[in-house]
Amino acid sequence: MERSVIRLSHCQKEIFCFSVPAECPSCGEELRGSRLQEAPVSLPSPLTNGHKSSSCLLVAPAHDNYDRDFDGTSDLHTGISNTKGVVYNYTQGGVRRDQSGWERCVSVPLVRPDMFHLLAQWDQYLDRFSDGPMWDPAWHRFNEENHNCFSFCLQFVNSVLAAEGRSALSREAFTHSFILPRMRRVSKYTTLYQHIQRHQYYMVDREEDKQEDTQGGASVNS
Ligand SMILES: [Zn+2]
Repeated sequence: MERSVIRLSHCQKEIFCFSVPAECPSCGEELRGSRLQEAPVSLPSPLTNGHKSSSCLLVAPAHDNYDRDFDGTSDLHTGISNTKGVVYNYTQGGVRRDQSGWERCVSVPLVRPDMFHLLAQWDQYLDRFSDGPMWDPAWHRFNEENHNCFSFCLQFVNSVLAAEGRSALSREAFTHSFILPRMRRVSKYTTLYQHIQRHQYYMVDREEDKQEDTQGGASVNS
């Protein structure tokens, strides 16, 4: 998903495309060079570069395969970024500290930018947590089901919450409030993107599009 999607309005339609078409796909009126009622808006991609994130939970396709996009079925891999964009992620061989490979993923902010004391200690917390015996292959074996990359992230988040005097999140609560809404957004965007690739544009009546996607934006600390 390299190109950015733009949205424009014409004759009571919302048209999604990669570039303004020569003529309106609905009414046939010439668009290029003519003045549109509203400027085309570009839709932000729901995928971000994890190495440019700070203290986020990151969700990415499991294999280093740049051709494959989120389609709702591919395996997901999760990790946590430190304040310098290094991604800590637990695998069979222990905790990896990746400086690349997480360029296209979903990021969930874990710390509000005004929580200076937490941010100041984040990298140290994350290092110390990662060095723990729980994640050392000599002590604990990786398990696809219950001791995996997500267990690492969730337990780290919970250890931070505990240090802040807050109660722990269950796996379900964490998945439902922080991961699924964002994954749904990715899947909607992917569907739209693929439709435009095949048909050059996607069009809906303006009325139908009134309920905008309002989810997201929340962080664990909000
Ligand atoms: Zn039109």
